[in-house]
Amino acid sequence: MTGTRIGVVSLCLLLVASSAGAAEKVSVSWHPSKPRLGDVAWLHVQDVAETATVEGSVNERPLTFFPYAGGHAALVGMDLDMKPGALQWRVGVVESGREPRTARGTLSIRRREFSVQRLTLPPTMVELDPETERRAVAEGQQLATLYRTITPERLWRGKFTKPVGTPADGTGFGARRIINGLPRAPHSGIDYSAPRGTPVVAANSGRVALVAEFFFPGRLVVLDHGLGLYTLYFHLDATSLAEGVLVERGQTLGTVGTTGRATGPHLHFGALVGAARIDPATLLGLSLLD
Ligand SMILES: [Zn+2]
Repeated sequence: MTGTRIGVVSLCLLLVASSAGAAEKVSVSWHPSKPRLGDVAWLHVQDVAETATVEGSVNERPLTFFPYAGGHAALVGMDLDMKPGALQWRVGVVESGREPRTARGTLSIRRREFSVQRLTLPPTMVELDPETERRAVAEGQQLATLYRTITPERLWRGKFTKPVGTPADGTGFGARRIINGLPRAPHSGIDYSAPRGTPVVAANSGRVALVAEFFFPGRLVVLDHGLGLYTLYFHLDATSLAEGVLVERGQTLGTVGTTGRATGPHLHFGALVGAARIDPATLLGLSLLD
């Protein structure tokens, strides 16, 4: 499945916050300090009480904070199609018994080279008749609306786990696709080749937000991990989950298949933060752990 729009373990760079007006400064660090396109990054606002109100934005897009390690943190997704360059960020903290504190700065986003994939598919999976085209567009819009929905509670904890037990890593994130000779939308997840019937497990705890059978993704499960973070599991052979139920990390969601637009049995694993399409491999390497 494809769509449009930053997490690797890296250095902790303490950015010096410039104060606005007479307000006190607050310490903010970004991880990694120089994210790439497709990374999930996070910022840590240090020395802030759990009960404090923390708000902020990146390029005017609001951030969703949660208490973390003696302060607050927020995830930020760097969409695979965003422009590399400088992002402006801002954080404000209101805490009882203290003056309001602020910080602002610039984060530079590095470019990343994506591979080019040339695929040959049956024409019926590429040149859609008008009715199928309408269906695929409506399904894409339903997914886009879901990804923009921010559940206020944080449902994930600790490390994200690989969704299939295969030894190989998932491949193909951001690949520029040329299908039957024509350029198409970039590949917004990673693919794990695995035999049909291989169990697919939840990368972390969350709520089942969608179980459906869509034209391109086939039989699919979308997990809502809260605070705008979603993981996607496409081309499933089978799933017995119901929407709305809570799942634990490692719980079976279904099995690998070839449903939807797939050339062979594989799991397409995707991830979004604030509707930004991120490389799920960077989510698996997220350095924010608790
Ligand atoms: Zn895929």
